[in-house]
Amino acid sequence: MPQKIQNPSDLNDKRVTVLGMARSGVAVARLLRRAGCRVLVSDAGANEALKTAAAELRSWGIETELSGHSLRTLECDFLVRSPGVPTTNTIYVEAKQRKLPLFSEIEVAAWFCRAPIVAITGSNGKTTTTEWLGDVFKRWGQPVAVCGNVGFPFSTAVEELGTEGVAVVEASSFQLEDIADFAPRAAIITNFSPDHLDRYDSYNDYLQAKCRIFENLSAREILIYNRTDLDLAARVEAFAGKKLSFGLNAPPGAGAGVVGDEIILVMEGRAARRLMHRRELSLPGPHNLENALAVICAAADMGVPDEVIAASLRGFAGVPHRLEKVAEIEGILWVNDSKATNVASGLTALNSFNRPIILLAGGRDKSSDFVSVAAQVRDKVKSVILFGEAGRVMEKAWSPVFKSDRVESLQQAVELARTLAQAGEVVLLSPMCASFDEFKNYEDRGEKFKVWVRGDAGPDSAQSDT
Ligand code: ADP
Repeated sequence: MPQKIQNPSDLNDKRVTVLGMARSGVAVARLLRRAGCRVLVSDAGANEALKTAAAELRSWGIETELSGHSLRTLECDFLVRSPGVPTTNTIYVEAKQRKLPLFSEIEVAAWFCRAPIVAITGSNGKTTTTEWLGDVFKRWGQPVAVCGNVGFPFSTAVEELGTEGVAVVEASSFQLEDIADFAPRAAIITNFSPDHLDRYDSYNDYLQAKCRIFENLSAREILIYNRTDLDLAARVEAFAGKKLSFGLNAPPGAGAGVVGDEIILVMEGRAARRLMHRRELSLPGPHNLENALAVICAAADMGVPDEVIAASLRGFAGVPHRLEKVAEIEGILWVNDSKATNVASGLTALNSFNRPIILLAGGRDKSSDFVSVAAQVRDKVKSVILFGEAGRVMEKAWSPVFKSDRVESLQQAVELARTLAQAGEVVLLSPMCASFDEFKNYEDRGEKFKVWVRGDAGPDSAQSDT
């Protein structure tokens, strides 16, 4: 077994190689340099962004190399892999063979974190759950760092957090693969479904990576998991530590759930208590109710008062591009779900509204199976407007079951929707496709959609609806 290095004061003069110079790689390199390490950051690429990052790293006394990894990367006490670097990377593979200690960025950041950590993983709902929990702690008046996979590296967050407050960390399976001692105060697993199978040999490997989030938990820490996800429930069964479960049914033990339409919380040794009617939640859809239940478990376990939790459940504005309410114009609700880049997330969106839906879908196809969901889509929509490269493929897949309209661009789809929609309906952009045929990324697509929708209506006319 490689020697474990947990105490930042033991790091002085250690030689460290960081593989990958994207945001998390840069952040962890700086953290280690400040702890006295001699750091080399190496990246296989050499574009302008990387050159700028390299110059900044050098100004902090960190060595850099671009355009490929030299063998010097292996002359070190340990390596750190940025989440974007695949496990097939030749240096990573060689380092494993040589039994060099290898850690992920969240493992290293956790060595430096003096505040309690809540870590969130799962296939879907990670970002929403992470941001929602961050909102709870903010309303409670706690210093909180919402970090990890949400675009703000955990390594940067730990430099700002003291012993007070809490770090809420979104942890991808890529980050969890190379942990050693990582043991959050609370570990949340939202759910399991096949994803990223291009990076794993099997579904089993992918689930195993996610389950590492609780492998180091002792009796002091807690595991929070979705009890209605049977793959997940089976894997946590053998875990002997403290657990809270959540799901859209009555809690069988300690945890959160739903009885009738009431959201219920049961803490160990205490009577069940009602938090609110499910209709009062600020975000729509059963999937967001599950995310809320995970948030409730973690917040209650950390001692947040019920009224603070309830205020967040009613008031959290959601994460941009995920069922984001854009505007209510003349009784028509416009919703931006640009993050729905696959069929499954599009179907999730269609299950989140009680109003008639005009669906805008299309973009770049990822060889998705549109045929088998045709009836499900038909049952949920009033009409469908297809756009982008995939429009033709989707039209063909769905035409035996229902008729849709097709236009070239998203902007044309917005204009057509304006003429079709009536008061009381929702126009939902949930594209089920990637955005790269027309946009830089899903954020760009969502931002442009919002501008086209709002026109002169302004950003403040959104109202809640489920
Ligand atoms: P992640 O960070 O895991 O990708 P997000 O919170 O960003 O998850 O949500 C992405 C999309 O996944 C949402 O637009 C929604 O369609 C779907 N989703 C969110 N939460 C859940 C959930 N608990 N179960 C299933 N799907 C979900």
